[in-house]
Amino acid sequence: MELIRTREALRQWRGKAQGSIGFVPTMGALHEGHLSLVRHSLSQNDRTVVSIFVNPRQFGANEDYYRYPRMLDTDRRLLENLGVSVLFAPPEEEMYSPDDEVWMSLTRLSRLWCGSYRLGHFDGVVLVLTKLFHLVAPHRAYFGEKDFQQVRVVEKMVEELFFPIQIIRMPTVREPDGLAISSRNSYLSPRGRAQAVALYKTLQYIQTLVPKFRLTHKILEEARQYLHERFPEVKVEYLAIVDEYSLEPLEHLSQSAKPRALIAAYVEGVRLIDNIPLEVPPEEAYT
Ligand code: AMP
Repeated sequence: MELIRTREALRQWRGKAQGSIGFVPTMGALHEGHLSLVRHSLSQNDRTVVSIFVNPRQFGANEDYYRYPRMLDTDRRLLENLGVSVLFAPPEEEMYSPDDEVWMSLTRLSRLWCGSYRLGHFDGVVLVLTKLFHLVAPHRAYFGEKDFQQVRVVEKMVEELFFPIQIIRMPTVREPDGLAISSRNSYLSPRGRAQAVALYKTLQYIQTLVPKFRLTHKILEEARQYLHERFPEVKVEYLAIVDEYSLEPLEHLSQSAKPRALIAAYVEGVRLIDNIPLEVPPEEAYT
C-alpha cells in the first residue's frame, strides 16, 4: 500500500493506475463500519483508494474538530492488511488555501435535519468530496447509510454535477446491542455508552408502532415518550419519519412511500445519529 500525502503524487499514481478504482472517503479512526465499505470496494474493484482527512470545513465553530480522534499509524496498518492500494492522507494545506473562494451548497437537502443544526456542515462535505472525486477519479465511491442524509446529499451532487461515479450505499454496522458504530462513541463513558443504545432502541420502537398508527405524528409522540421515560439522560435533537428519497417528513405511512426513521440525540454532550428503514404493512392491515 502506498501512503500518499500530496495531490501531485496522487495524480501521478492515478495516471498510471489500470482497471477499476473504488474509493472510500473517511475521517479516519477506522472501525468496522469503515472497514465494511473498504472490503466491499476491494471485492468490486481492481484497486481501492481510501482517504483519511478530518475536513475542517464540515465542523462548526463549537464542534469537535480539534478533539476528533486521529490515529493514522493504526489506520494505516489496518488498511495495509486488507489489501488497499493507496491511503491518501493529505495535510490541510493540500486541500485548502486561505484565499479559497469556492463555496458549494445544496439548496434543500443540505438544510434539512442535521443541516439545520450543523450549519454549513453539508456545504463542507460537498466541497471536500468534489475535490477528492476530482483527484481520485474513482469509478465507484462507497458511503455508509449510518449517515443517511449524507448519502442522499452525495447522490444528488454526483447526479447534478455529472460525476461519472457510481455511489454505492452500505448498511449500517452496529455493536451487538444495536448501537451504530461511530468514531464519536469513543468519547462516551461506560455510563454514557449504556445510554447511547437509546437511539437504536427508539428507532426499533418506532418500527413496532408502525402497524398500529398510520399518522406519523402519533408514532413520533409515543416514541418521544418512550425515549424520555427509558433514557432520561438522552437529549433528542430531532426525531423524524421521512421519505427516503426527498428526506421530507411524511404525514402518514403507506406502502407507496419509502419511509425512514431518523434520530439525532446528545448523550453526555456527544452528538450521535442513527436511522432505519421502516417496513410498512399492507393497507388492509390497519384497522
Ligand atoms: P466518517 O469517517 O465518519 O466520515 O465516515 C466515513 C464513511 O464511513 C461514511 O460513508 C460513513 O457513513 C461510513 N460509516 C461510518 N460509520 C458507519 C457504520 N457504523 N456503518 C456503516 N458505515 C459507516
